[in-house]
Amino acid sequence: MAKLSIADLDDLRGKLVFVRVDYNVPIEAGKVADDKRIRATVPTIDHLVKGGARIVLASHLGRPKGERKPELSLRPVAAHAADVLGGTVNFVDDSIGDRVDQLIAELPPGGILLLENLRFYAEEEKNEAAFAEKLARHVDIYVNDAFGTAHRAHASTAGVPEVIKARGGQCAAGFLLQRELEFLGDALTDPQRPFVCIIGGAKISGKIDVIEALLPKADTILIGGAMAYTFRKSQGFGVGDSLVENDKLDLAKSLLERVDPKKFLLPLDQIQTTEFKQGAPTRVTDGPSIEDGWEGVDIGPQTVEVYKKIIAEARTVVWNGPLGVCEIPDFAHGTIAVAEALAANTDCLSIIGGGDSAKAVKEAGLADKMSFISTGGGASLEFLEGKTLPGVAALSDK
Ligand code: AMP
Repeated sequence: MAKLSIADLDDLRGKLVFVRVDYNVPIEAGKVADDKRIRATVPTIDHLVKGGARIVLASHLGRPKGERKPELSLRPVAAHAADVLGGTVNFVDDSIGDRVDQLIAELPPGGILLLENLRFYAEEEKNEAAFAEKLARHVDIYVNDAFGTAHRAHASTAGVPEVIKARGGQCAAGFLLQRELEFLGDALTDPQRPFVCIIGGAKISGKIDVIEALLPKADTILIGGAMAYTFRKSQGFGVGDSLVENDKLDLAKSLLERVDPKKFLLPLDQIQTTEFKQGAPTRVTDGPSIEDGWEGVDIGPQTVEVYKKIIAEARTVVWNGPLGVCEIPDFAHGTIAVAEALAANTDCLSIIGGGDSAKAVKEAGLADKMSFISTGGGASLEFLEGKTLPGVAALSDK
C-alpha cells in the first residue's frame, strides 16, 4: 500500500508538524563533523517552512541508553542546522515536559524547534506508550524523514504516528524517506533486466535473508566478502585461516544445492594474506581454495573480470556489502573494481544499499556516478529482505 507523502499534505499553515529526522551525525570538539544527514532533510524542512507549518524536529544521537550524556546533546546540531537551512533553529534541552510545551506554544508559522536527543529517555527505544503520548501532545501532523531508523519500532518512529493516526491526524513520508522507498521499491518490484545483485560482507548469517529474498527476483547474484568462504568450505574447498561460520555450513550447502550456479556466482579466486594489515604479503589463490596458514581478504583478479562483465551488461544493480576487507586499502581492490565497473555502466540503475558498500563507493570518489545511495544500512537491508519497516508501516496510507 502506498504511503502518504509530504507532498500530499495541502493544509500546513499554522499546523504543528513533528518531523522525525536522522541527525545522528558525528560531533567532534562540540561541532558537527559531517552534515550530510542534515543537508539531506533540507527539501522536507523547506517545504514545511514555505507552507507555514510550525516545525518540531526530533532525532536520536548515538547510544545514550536512557541517560543524559552531555557529549550526546543535539545542541551543536541546532546551531549547524540553522546555518544549513539559512534560518533560525531553536533548541530545547529536553524532548518532553513544560519547557518543551512552552517553546512549542511560542513557535510561529515557519518556526523550527529541535528537541534534545530522544534517547536520553529509555522509553524512546522501548516505544513506551506514555512517552509517545507526551511527544505527540501538541502535534497535528507527523512526518518521518529518517530512513536510517525506519526499521526500528521506537516511540518517535512508531508510537507517535500511531497516536496521531488514532486522533484522525495525518502521518506522511518526508522527501528523503519517499526517495528511499521509491528507489529500493521500484528496483525490487519492476527492475529493468538484467537485474544483478551484488552481496558481500562478513557473514552468511547477516545476509541469508536478503539472498533468499533476492533469489527469485535477480537474474544474477554475485557473492563476495568473507561470506563466500563459508559457501566454499561447504563445497569442500580449503579456507585456511579465513573468517568462516562453521555453524552455517549446512545452510550454505543446502542453498547451493537449490540455486543455478550460472546465476549464483561465488568467487573463482581470492586474495589471501598472512597478516590482516596494510602492507602484509598477499598472494592470488589458484582457484577458490585458500592455503593453510593464509587468510582470504578480497576477491581475486579472475573473479573481478567475470563480475565486471556481468555488471557491464546489467540494467539494474543492487549492491549490499563489500567484496573484501575494504577498510584496508590493499584488500579493497575487488570492491573498488566492482564500484568502477558499476560507475562505468551509464545505462544501469545502480542502487547502493547503505553501510560499508556505500562508504567504499564514497571513498573511491564514485558516489556521484551511482543512481542512488541509501542513507540507511540496516533499514535498506531489511527493506531488501522484504520486511515491513515499522517506521513506514506506521504512516498513513494514501
Ligand atoms: P557486513 O556488515 O556484513 O556488510 O560486513 C562488512 C564487513 O565485512 C567489513 O567490515 C569488511 O571488512 C568485512 N569483510 C569483507 N570481506 C572480508 C574478508 N574476506 N575477511 C574478513 N572480513 C571481511
